[in-house]
Amino acid sequence: MTSLQKPEIAIVGGGPAGLSAALSAVRQGAEVMLIDRDPALGGQLVKQTHMFFGSRKEYAAIRGIDIPGKLMAALEEEGPEKFKPLLDTTVLGYYDDGVILADKEEEQAMLIKPQKTIIATGAAEKMLPFPGNDLPGVYGAGAVQTLMNVYGIKPGTRVLMIGAGNIGLIVSYQLLQAGVEVAAIIEGAPKIGGYLVHATKARRAGIPIKTSHTIKEAYGKDSVEGALICSLDENWCAIPGSDLDMKVDVICLAVGLTPQTELLWQAGCEQKYIPELGGYVPLRNEKMQTSLPDLYVAGDVACIEEAGSAMVEGKIAGLYAAADLGYAEKVEERYTSYYRELEELRAGPTGAKIRQGLSRLNGGV
Ligand SMILES: Cc1cc2nc3c(=O)[nH]c(=O)nc-3n(C[C@H](O)[C@H](O)[C@H](O)COP(=O)(O)OP(=O)(O)OC[C@H]3O[C@@H](n4cnc5c(N)ncnc54)[C@H](O)[C@@H]3O)c2cc1C
Repeated sequence: MTSLQKPEIAIVGGGPAGLSAALSAVRQGAEVMLIDRDPALGGQLVKQTHMFFGSRKEYAAIRGIDIPGKLMAALEEEGPEKFKPLLDTTVLGYYDDGVILADKEEEQAMLIKPQKTIIATGAAEKMLPFPGNDLPGVYGAGAVQTLMNVYGIKPGTRVLMIGAGNIGLIVSYQLLQAGVEVAAIIEGAPKIGGYLVHATKARRAGIPIKTSHTIKEAYGKDSVEGALICSLDENWCAIPGSDLDMKVDVICLAVGLTPQTELLWQAGCEQKYIPELGGYVPLRNEKMQTSLPDLYVAGDVACIEEAGSAMVEGKIAGLYAAADLGYAEKVEERYTSYYRELEELRAGPTGAKIRQGLSRLNGGV
């Protein structure tokens, strides 16, 4: 074990939320250690080759893969002495006294005692229970994207996509771009969950989208050789005689994400189950401060949403973690502008679910 490190602020997770939190805190004047288990910063962004939706202030219409570089360049401009990234380093524990246990590949485990900690660990993919879901060839959409867009490896030749939310639609289109056939996108709900623009693009490229459909089983000897799908009635029950056999070698699950809150449970943060926000999420105030005064959150770990809102939440968490250490310049003014931006991102029908979830988190019904 190496000696105890004592940064002013430690941020766990270097996705859009963590990177924005780092930039915001460094701009206030604080010193930040940013820890990520991956070899590069950016979180989900490192595999998002498409132009982002969201707010122009948060890099909408720029490809996801180009956003981390912009945030890093801004951090470098602030002066490298205030910012210490620790890559290939997994945070394994958060103890009562605020000490973090981090494990860096091929090095001794580290103990870190920051004055303030921001957890921005993002989300994990949800799984579906069906016979054969443990066969090689059944992937989460994130794994398929990592294979294709980070390592340049095709996951297979013909894919059945489960889930017509934005992730299912976008990854289907990216599969086509990589030269992989997409047999169909199936969706249990009676309507497509993702944005129309992504659905239209997939349809125009010839991918059928079958709503009110689900997977019954995957089959194959050593790996996936096909799947049985069926239609669902209005009670989500399989319609007898509607089975369809699809010959595919990959089944890709894009059925939702859930916040990665393990470190928050270890820390003893109060959490509440809010389905609209993706599962158990931490209680927090307008500063993104949890029930523990030295612990803040931002991004998908706090609410499954989008990179735009993850970045704004990161700015708020970084601002207040720094302000609570005494770096208090223009805090109200900056907070007001970030808060307005969050409101804009969550306005309209697409933000209704998030607004409802946040209201329930804060005691509404
Ligand atoms: C296919 C797809 C398309 C998308 N398209 C868009 C879009 O067009 N527009 C948009 O706004 N959003 C989009 N999103 C959503 C967006 O990518 C996420 O909302 C955003 O990345 C969340 O940011 P985050 O920083 O909270 O989490 P992440 O980006 O998931 O980052 C979390 C980071 O934490 C690290 N980490 C986790 N646990 C630990 C640990 N214990 N120790 C150390 N490090 C840890 C991870 O390695 C990761 O780098 C898309 C998502 C997907 C999957």
